[in-house]
Amino acid sequence: MDPTLQTCDVLILGAGGAGLRAAIAVAETHPDISVGIVSKVYPMRSHTVSAEGGAAAVIKDNDSLENHAYDTISGGDWMCDQDAVELFVKQAPTEMLRLEHWGCPWSREANGTVAVRPFGGMKKQRTWFAADKTGFHMLHTLFQTSLKYHKVIRFDEWYVTSLLVEEGRCQGAVVMEIASGKVEALRAKAVVICTGGAGKVFPFTTNANIKTGDGMALAYRAGVPLKDMEFVQYHPTGLPFTGILITEAARAEGGYLLNKEGYRYLQDYDLGKPEAKPVLRSMELGPRDRLSQAFVKEQEKGRTLQGAYGHYVHLDIRHLGAKLIDSKLPFVRELCLKYENLDPIQTMIPVRPVVHYMMGGIHTDIHGATPLPGLYAAGECACVSINGANRLGSNSLTELLVFGAIAGKSAAEFALSQPGFSENLPSLAAKEFKRLEKLFFKKNGGVENIADIREAMQKTMEEGVGIYRDEKSLLASQTEIFNLQERFKHVRLSDKSQAFNTERVAALELSCLLDVAEAVIQSAVCRKESRGSHQRIDFPQRDDREFLVHSLAYKKKHAIPEVDYVPVTITRWPPGERIYGR
Ligand SMILES: Cc1cc2nc3c(=O)[nH]c(=O)nc-3n(C[C@H](O)[C@H](O)[C@H](O)COP(=O)(O)OP(=O)(O)OC[C@H]3O[C@@H](n4cnc5c(N)ncnc54)[C@H](O)[C@@H]3O)c2cc1C
Repeated sequence: MDPTLQTCDVLILGAGGAGLRAAIAVAETHPDISVGIVSKVYPMRSHTVSAEGGAAAVIKDNDSLENHAYDTISGGDWMCDQDAVELFVKQAPTEMLRLEHWGCPWSREANGTVAVRPFGGMKKQRTWFAADKTGFHMLHTLFQTSLKYHKVIRFDEWYVTSLLVEEGRCQGAVVMEIASGKVEALRAKAVVICTGGAGKVFPFTTNANIKTGDGMALAYRAGVPLKDMEFVQYHPTGLPFTGILITEAARAEGGYLLNKEGYRYLQDYDLGKPEAKPVLRSMELGPRDRLSQAFVKEQEKGRTLQGAYGHYVHLDIRHLGAKLIDSKLPFVRELCLKYENLDPIQTMIPVRPVVHYMMGGIHTDIHGATPLPGLYAAGECACVSINGANRLGSNSLTELLVFGAIAGKSAAEFALSQPGFSENLPSLAAKEFKRLEKLFFKKNGGVENIADIREAMQKTMEEGVGIYRDEKSLLASQTEIFNLQERFKHVRLSDKSQAFNTERVAALELSCLLDVAEAVIQSAVCRKESRGSHQRIDFPQRDDREFLVHSLAYKKKHAIPEVDYVPVTITRWPPGERIYGR
């Protein structure tokens, strides 16, 4: 491997919604700033493309920024930083309109104005959509807009292996071109991590295979803490076996959840109680944590169905009729036909909870800055935090725009203030090249198989760190992850070729997944309460006195991570009960 050095002012890691929005923001800040964007897949293949239901922003007269902020904060079980939420809801409409001006084809009302649909946990209709292919259209709009800036240089199908940190600041990254196996160091005065989520630490997820927590692991290894990692969102409606998502829009348009007796079982839970009625549009439109927890309870009561791929319930949209389904939920129909061989116009859809989203991520402030100078983060890999203990559906796509733009701008300003680079970067890069060589060309060949370690990791995460956890289950998973990290040291790579060596990528991704898993587990062990998506059987109550704080997990060599805490920022909404119950 031959070390070479390239330079840009701002380097963006990831070309999904957050990365592309950040790149445009950098280019808009100063026409002369050069921007590099590295992505392990072609940008349009980033996970943002698969988002279906929509993106939230206040647009109708009967709504208000206060409403959007309150829904987000109560939905997040008071773990959101309220200053970040206030900034988010304020910027959201501007960002969404900007996307319209860049060409995003938002669905319209009959009178030509932007259409909105209801979404889980939102009291008002404020979710903008482009049929049920919202992510595709948003990503396309951002991608085509980024093309007009000639200072934006893309590194498509390059894989980032580590950050370059010297003199106490981030000064670039080491990257590998997947097509050729070539490894290079990219120097940059500021780096923005936008590498998306980490659903693949679990076996059953809506997340694409590429969502392996790489950026989270890179920051964590560089000494930046991962915040609120114990909060992992299960989406209540994934297709059994594949985990493919059936969007919340199906319930927003009026779909029902039925148990094996054909009964709308949510009426037996808090979501169906009279007090919830003024808060929720329907019991099926409760927040995702509550719905997923209700599924587990139904299963315990023996009221779910059992199939080849575990327990499930039915999502019924037959009563919505062919016309509505074909105009507003065409993708739901397409997915059911292709992957379940059923037509939801005539047949109920089997669904079960599935890992969907990481509320936690790289610790940033409201400007997208991490504690490491020169390093910024935005999107699902980051935790700013607006999602608290449970993200509301349709807030993530908007978050990519709002905080992608903010992080990009902050990084550009930081880059403009920096004189140059450390002379040590080539030797730092050379160290990383050596580490990679050692992994790729192990002397004794190695004995462990990537797939075996990955499967064991996913199994223990599901068993011990699922919708409900307790200390015993968490500690058992912790021991297993520690063993797997030891086994990873002996991993065997049999493919020695340079061109498109996907085995190398899989090995690097697996090491990131293991690091993310360890942070999730230890953060969950330390949070001895139940809040949002983090439900401890041994500590069933929310405990604001002790735990109205964000966890920060720090990497430790050969040991469990250290967990520290910072207070949650409360501005206008003191902690209260979530009305639809606890
Ligand atoms: C099926 C599905 C449906 C969803 N629907 C909705 C919805 O309707 N509304 C909503 O608000 N949210 C939705 N979400 C959540 C939302 O889509 C995601 O949180 C969001 O798109 C993440 O965007 P991102 O830019 O942070 O990351 P991504 O879009 O995941 O992009 C990550 C980028 O990082 C790059 N990358 C990662 N690691 C490396 C590496 N090591 N080297 C180089 N590049 C790397 C990838 O190539 C990619 O370009 C959905 C999620 C899923 C899975």
